[in-house]
Amino acid sequence: MADIASELQRDVLERFLRYVRIDTTSDQDSTTYPSTAKQRDLGEVLEGELRELGLDDVELTQHGYVFATVPGGAGPTVGLIAHMDTSQDESGANVQPQVVESWDGSDIVLPGDPDKVLRASENPILAARVGHDIVTTDGTTLLGADDKAGVAEIMGAVAYLVAHPEIEHAPLRVGFTVDEEVGRGVDHFDIDAFGADFAYTLDGAEVGRIDDETFSASEVRIRIEGLSVHPGTSKGKMVNAIKLGAQLIERLPRDDRSPETTDGRRGFIHPHRFTGTTAEAELRFIARDFDAAKLDEHEQLLRKLADDVAAEEPRARVSVTVEEQYRNMKEFLDQDPRVTEAADEAARRCGLDPWREPIRGGTDGSMLSARGLPTPNIFTGGQQFHSVLEWASVQDMALSAATIVELAKVWAEPEWATRSDTRARTGASPR
Ligand SMILES: [Zn+2]
Repeated sequence: MADIASELQRDVLERFLRYVRIDTTSDQDSTTYPSTAKQRDLGEVLEGELRELGLDDVELTQHGYVFATVPGGAGPTVGLIAHMDTSQDESGANVQPQVVESWDGSDIVLPGDPDKVLRASENPILAARVGHDIVTTDGTTLLGADDKAGVAEIMGAVAYLVAHPEIEHAPLRVGFTVDEEVGRGVDHFDIDAFGADFAYTLDGAEVGRIDDETFSASEVRIRIEGLSVHPGTSKGKMVNAIKLGAQLIERLPRDDRSPETTDGRRGFIHPHRFTGTTAEAELRFIARDFDAAKLDEHEQLLRKLADDVAAEEPRARVSVTVEEQYRNMKEFLDQDPRVTEAADEAARRCGLDPWREPIRGGTDGSMLSARGLPTPNIFTGGQQFHSVLEWASVQDMALSAATIVELAKVWAEPEWATRSDTRARTGASPR
């Protein structure tokens, strides 16, 4: 219902502007958890705000997660998850958001860097939002709608339900996570303690899009040991690991199986880091596909290339390690399609026409679904993530928050609540 969205609009915007000003950039190279201590700054704010709402089991954990319960009536316990950290791709320090109210469709110049301009002509999703209130950066940082839009929408929806005790809804568990952007978002996430029957991440983009399918992903590391000898006296002796690594890269498919040559449902192999010396080199690849068998083929191809190089230069030692990163959530979500269908139903009740598109990436939900907590992903209304041109529509964010409210209501309705018990089948225990 559009009226819930308009009621939520102001609160969601205020929360969003408050949260994006708190620097929560995560750090790929850190070995601590969370990867940066400053993520707790937002965690503490959210902990305080949840307590102010009167929720009494609010918890900021040692790992930086924020958990809380919104008691409800009938129905399964529904998890709502968003991540507090932002990407390292652009600075997240000193974010100065601007709000362009009732945008008229003209160019939006970002005040901190006038060379950065959002133009309707270059941006069809923006072009369709004339009349909306548009939040942008000042052109020098990212905005952090990924995923503070999701955080603000969950907070707004929870505040709305607390303020409207007459609304019947299912019990909710709120979970704000850290380090999603560095792929470690749910490393310490205790599904049993969380106690939800299933969950939703609020971490998508365009309004109406509900995701139930992600890549399956692995990282492949190929390590090459050569032999370093003084170059003045190395004839017939030196085995240069860098050159062997380069040969291997040369043999990768050229017109296929790379990020730069594929889209849609086709997967890829992608070398993303090459370090080394004459004596030893390491090549790191990511392999991605929606289909587990094809992901296996990508891994096998890398093994074969490594074997070929090793066979041609028997003095070198070549080793391959493969580490699974996350799995396509669809195989798990298909075991209980009503979890995703309920999100569709909630979006429809907000006047939207929900749609799907496979994500060429992963979410915290990919890992949670594989570990037994089915977790599809819901739109947030943010756009052009990880960029100084990131922006979000206030009306779209409100629609996302309203979808959460409707979702909480859907799951309290007898025809939805009397679903097969996910807990019993997945082995997760009740809270
Ligand atoms: Zn995100």
